[in-house]
Amino acid sequence: MKGYAMLKIGEAGWIEKPDPVCGPNDAILKPLAVAACTSDVHTLWEGAIGERHNMILGHECCAEVVSCGSEVHDFKPGDRVLVPAITPDWNSLAAQSGYAMHSGEMLGGWKFSNYKDGVMAELFHVNDADGNLAHLPKGMDPVTATMLSDMVPTGFHGAELCNIQYGDEVLVIGIGPVGLMAVAAAALGGASRIIVVGGKREVCTAAAKKYGATDFISYHDGDFADKTLELTNGRGVDRVIIAGGNGDTFISAIKALRPGGAIGNVNYLGSGDYIKLPRVEWGVGMGHKAINGGLMPGGRLRLEKLARLITYGRLDVTPLCTHVLEGWEALPQALQLMKDKPRDLIKAIVRLEGHRI
Ligand code: NDP
Ligand code: ZN
Repeated sequence: MKGYAMLKIGEAGWIEKPDPVCGPNDAILKPLAVAACTSDVHTLWEGAIGERHNMILGHECCAEVVSCGSEVHDFKPGDRVLVPAITPDWNSLAAQSGYAMHSGEMLGGWKFSNYKDGVMAELFHVNDADGNLAHLPKGMDPVTATMLSDMVPTGFHGAELCNIQYGDEVLVIGIGPVGLMAVAAAALGGASRIIVVGGKREVCTAAAKKYGATDFISYHDGDFADKTLELTNGRGVDRVIIAGGNGDTFISAIKALRPGGAIGNVNYLGSGDYIKLPRVEWGVGMGHKAINGGLMPGGRLRLEKLARLITYGRLDVTPLCTHVLEGWEALPQALQLMKDKPRDLIKAIVRLEGHRI
């Protein structure tokens, strides 16, 4: 089979590989639509997970089942399915402890284009098919469905990690697709005011407003913590979701947070060895300002529930799908778009259904 692969850090290309092999609990699928992700950019061009040779890229897709193992009960060839970016081993001790995303080892549920080939291929493999896949809801476009692989669950996990309560004032740092879904999650979860920190991409600012942002701060205009404190009369916010920035972002996040509050980080820290915390603003170690960072949990139940938000009209992901390309040859362009981030881009998605490689 053919796939679009990371040849080495900074270099990608088409390669041929043997078809993936299906174990008894697994499924082999072919993608119907694939989305490129900022994480692919970190992996391919920044070497954030280290060197990889000839590893097929991609972890966001909607797909059709080609074959299933003998122990798979709920899926059969021809089924159209949602595929999560994180595919844990559900029969693991990590899963029993409630942290399936770390099955095998820390971050072990992140398999696609990390420990094994990803989804930008004619065929790809999914472990634990019954636990990881979900049926594509009737009438849902596969392009739309790709947002359920990673952007929706990750943004919503950011909101879970900081435990939003009704009426909370929430700060969302970063309003790319993940941050936008965090804004949507905060609004659905009962936040009163949602202050967002973004850059110069107006398409993102406009989408943030649509999803419920009430105030906008540019991170180009000085420390966003000062602006947040100004906006909240010096109180700070109850919750912070970090979906953009870098290690230093935690300094401002802690400053902007009031005691008893929590930070939910889903941002991928692709460089640097340490994260600094401001000693005094962290209550000299006693400020009850919690920091939770998490990999998106993955799994079928979560996918089904999040898909229902779309089905019943609570969540519209179409504003994320700004660049929809057609056909296999567009995959490199989609990745390049996510790297270049033109001002009108939120996500680049490639429709593969009906196209030949
Ligand atoms: P984007 O690059 O599209 O968005 C990042 C946002 O952060 C943009 O609004 C950007 O502004 C803003 N930003 C950039 N620099 C700063 C800064 N110094 N301070 C504050 N804001 C800043 O990324 P995505 O939305 O696609 O993804 C967000 C992060 O989530 C990525 O790191 C990604 O790898 C990670 N991720 C994590 C997952 C998980 O399971 N935890 C899963 C999937 C993704 P501008 O408009 O200027 O670019
Ligand atoms: Zn992703």
